[in-house]
Amino acid sequence: MASRNFKLIEKLKKVDNLEIIENTSDVKRLSKDFYNYSPILEKRLDGCVADLVVRPFDNNAVLKVAGICWELSIPITLRGSGTGNYGQAVPLFKGIVMQMNYLNKLEEFDPDTGFVKVQSGCLMGDLNKQLERYGRELRLLPSTWKTATIGGFIAGGSGGIGSIRWGFLRDPGNLIGLEAVTINEEPKLLKFDAEESEPLNHAYGTNGIITSLLISTDIKRKWYSMVIDCEELHKAIEILKTCVIAAIDLKLGAILERKIVDKMPTWFKGQSKSHKILIQSTLGGIKTIELICKKYGVKYFLLGEEDKLSNGISEVVWNHTTLHMRAKDKNWTYLQMLLPLNKELDLINSLREKWDTNVLWHIEAVSQQGVPRLAALPVLKWRSEDQINQIIDNCKELGAIIFNPHVLTVEGGGLGVIDSDQVKAKLKFDPKGLLNPGKLEGWEIKDNFNI
Ligand SMILES: Cc1cc2nc3c(=O)[nH]c(=O)nc-3n(C[C@H](O)[C@H](O)[C@H](O)COP(=O)(O)OP(=O)(O)OC[C@H]3O[C@@H](n4cnc5c(N)ncnc54)[C@H](O)[C@@H]3O)c2cc1C
Repeated sequence: MASRNFKLIEKLKKVDNLEIIENTSDVKRLSKDFYNYSPILEKRLDGCVADLVVRPFDNNAVLKVAGICWELSIPITLRGSGTGNYGQAVPLFKGIVMQMNYLNKLEEFDPDTGFVKVQSGCLMGDLNKQLERYGRELRLLPSTWKTATIGGFIAGGSGGIGSIRWGFLRDPGNLIGLEAVTINEEPKLLKFDAEESEPLNHAYGTNGIITSLLISTDIKRKWYSMVIDCEELHKAIEILKTCVIAAIDLKLGAILERKIVDKMPTWFKGQSKSHKILIQSTLGGIKTIELICKKYGVKYFLLGEEDKLSNGISEVVWNHTTLHMRAKDKNWTYLQMLLPLNKELDLINSLREKWDTNVLWHIEAVSQQGVPRLAALPVLKWRSEDQINQIIDNCKELGAIIFNPHVLTVEGGGLGVIDSDQVKAKLKFDPKGLLNPGKLEGWEIKDNFNI
């Protein structure tokens, strides 16, 4: 192993435009992501550390590193900003972590289509600022948009702010194409169209090193944030559903139940002790929301234009809700699910009966293949792995689709099924299985299939 590492470092040192990080504490830090939101993953991943970290400044350096890893059979795990929750960017079998953050340029914007071509290591906050020049903005953002990269979002994320209108990252029309480096005897930089990009979309960097992306953008709007107080959870759900089907533009619609609101930062929770509905819409849309609130007899507060607020509601939604809960007590963990259509309340009531306040409800309005749906990221009091599995089983029995954030693999965190196209892409672009090994279940058992 020592001689392998010696050879590796010697070869890497000859690569132009490549930063090499060998310092133990930096390598340890850059081998971690936010997997500690799951006590199950924490136990599994805490000891996983790469041998070293590299940061390429250009595509040529990426190609050179791929060639060296192929020659020496070194595992390579890609990293954007390391904000994933599933241990996606954690190297299970040592080797190299390659952080893509220096590849961060907006390369091209096409005003006719609204497509932007951007290098994978660009931070979404920076990209959105640059898009403003063209009167555009990103359609979808994780709540970590200020610090996370666009490449990490496509390879490891799913959706977030904007999913109420634009669905999820894998929905057709969001990712238009990409460029990626293969890892084989002669690594190549290949161009993929929308269809060819599908197997690399949400594959945790297991089947190609994405260097740039071509993605759709939306017209830049001024989004206004509003908070609605509501005493009853069933009424809050009804109001949210009414807002979602109104003829208005929406960027966000969420509900936090009262006991979650209690744990949110003071600037957000205010004095009220009720459940809260959070909405982001245009100023025109807000007028309609006000009418809906009056009809239901609930109090509402217009906070102002989201971009101008010192604390916006984007900071208390999606997995940022869990972040604030964990800031108060590290024993909170979470789940992600799509609630059963029109039976959301049945599931919530049934879980409340069984698990009481060990499960607290955080709901997000999303569009699923064009249909308005409610997703949930409930926070759970950690007791044991067994108990989490029982809660998951209860939710499934009641018709929820679970995206389990306590598992390591692409399939486990998704729909639980193997996507043979992802495995085929790995066979073609990473035949030695060096990219993020251990994360693509289909690859591990490919010999059982006719792939
Ligand atoms: C508080 C909190 C809130 C969050 N909210 C959301 C949310 O709303 N929606 C959501 O989807 N996620 C959310 N996440 C998860 C995560 O922040 C996002 O998915 C984020 O976009 C990941 O970007 P990153 O740059 O940090 O990627 P990383 O964590 O560094 O990487 C993610 C995955 O992509 C792979 N990867 C990175 N770069 C490349 C590349 N160039 N080529 C190929 N593979 C690559 C990595 O190997 C890894 O498997 C949240 C996490 C936290 C901690």
